[in-house]
Amino acid sequence: MKDAVIEKIIAEEEERQRYNIELIASENFCSEDVREAVGSVLTNKYAEGYPGRRYYGGCLYVDKAEELARERVCEIFGADHANVQPHCGSAANMAVYRTVLKPGDKILGMSLDAGGHLTHGYKLSFSGSDYESYAYGVNKETECIDYDEVERIALEVKPKIIVCGASAYARFIDYKRFKEIADKVGAYLMVDMAHVAGLIAAGVHPNPVPYADFVTSTTHKTLRGPRGGFVLCKEEFAKALDKNVFPGMQGGPLCHVIAGKAVCFHEAMQPEFVEYQKQVVRNAKVLCKTLEEEGFRIVSGGTDNHMVLLDVKSTLGLTGKQLETLLDKVNITVNKNSIPFDTEKPAYTSGIRVGTPAMTTRGFKEEEFVKVAKWISRIAHHPEEEEVLEEVKREVREFMERFA
Ligand code: PLP
Repeated sequence: MKDAVIEKIIAEEEERQRYNIELIASENFCSEDVREAVGSVLTNKYAEGYPGRRYYGGCLYVDKAEELARERVCEIFGADHANVQPHCGSAANMAVYRTVLKPGDKILGMSLDAGGHLTHGYKLSFSGSDYESYAYGVNKETECIDYDEVERIALEVKPKIIVCGASAYARFIDYKRFKEIADKVGAYLMVDMAHVAGLIAAGVHPNPVPYADFVTSTTHKTLRGPRGGFVLCKEEFAKALDKNVFPGMQGGPLCHVIAGKAVCFHEAMQPEFVEYQKQVVRNAKVLCKTLEEEGFRIVSGGTDNHMVLLDVKSTLGLTGKQLETLLDKVNITVNKNSIPFDTEKPAYTSGIRVGTPAMTTRGFKEEEFVKVAKWISRIAHHPEEEEVLEEVKREVREFMERFA
């Protein structure tokens, strides 16, 4: 590379990724094949429109890539129609809202502090400023979604769309019940499966497609593809959805990323992918159990998916930000996260979120995650002790040599 400055930055980031223990639940390591597609000449191509209906010449090959991506993702999830052009998960969500809502219409989604995403109606997001947004949370005792309460709010608010799916929620979501609630109030149902898409593809998590009018996702989390988004919908919404993505929101699609999505979908159809996702879940359960044994309070008492949400304030007296910073020092990467009914501001939080997808890709099994939990525990229980930090940092580095 002629740009030595960027070359160095990339090399440093590569080194960081190689030797850090990556526990951010929304991250993963995509395959070299995905990266090859994303770094390919397809990035040079303009292709506004859809396969067979482009506004540019020379789209013969990118048409094939996009068609493949659409077919494969529909096959994986059993969907009628897919739009694989959204540049990210947020754009996928925006496309759905623009398809069925007018500005000012009511949306009901999970609140940010209970685990929902910004685009589910948070005030500072377009979803909370363009629409009249209402939120449901979780039950104070169980820290799980209280479906009767969702129904009560839905009956009161009468939203035009109900959104479920989350960024920080470790339990199964009852999509069937959400559909019944949506039907009861005449609302559309959108499921944002961004976090659990890979688990669903592998059949280790319930599939929302039979219940939802729209299912949105990212491709870069458990699905282990390139950064990007997509929307699945019933045939009746296909035309309107496509129009709202292009020309409604975006210009030229990212043909190279769409090819990367096609590769990722192909990988997600292989038997190894099912094995990988089963391991992701087994690892999350072990991580959860070991952390609990080490004295952490687990939000909602457990996990059904790839992540564990920890309350570090009530048992350890640390904020999420403090523990995130301490773990950064020993090359364990996590993110601070609000927990339900959090009394700390979002910049501090009372919790951290840890996930297993990335390190499972790197080959970690149960035994390795027990080690990870014990390191997290040692740091959390000795936050002031420099020697402990130094020792754990050294151990992590030595350990990661085996997986680099
Ligand atoms: N939906 C959920 C549930 C998410 O967790 C995220 C990102 O973390 C998104 C949507 C947004 O995806 P992106 O960051 O690609 O816009």
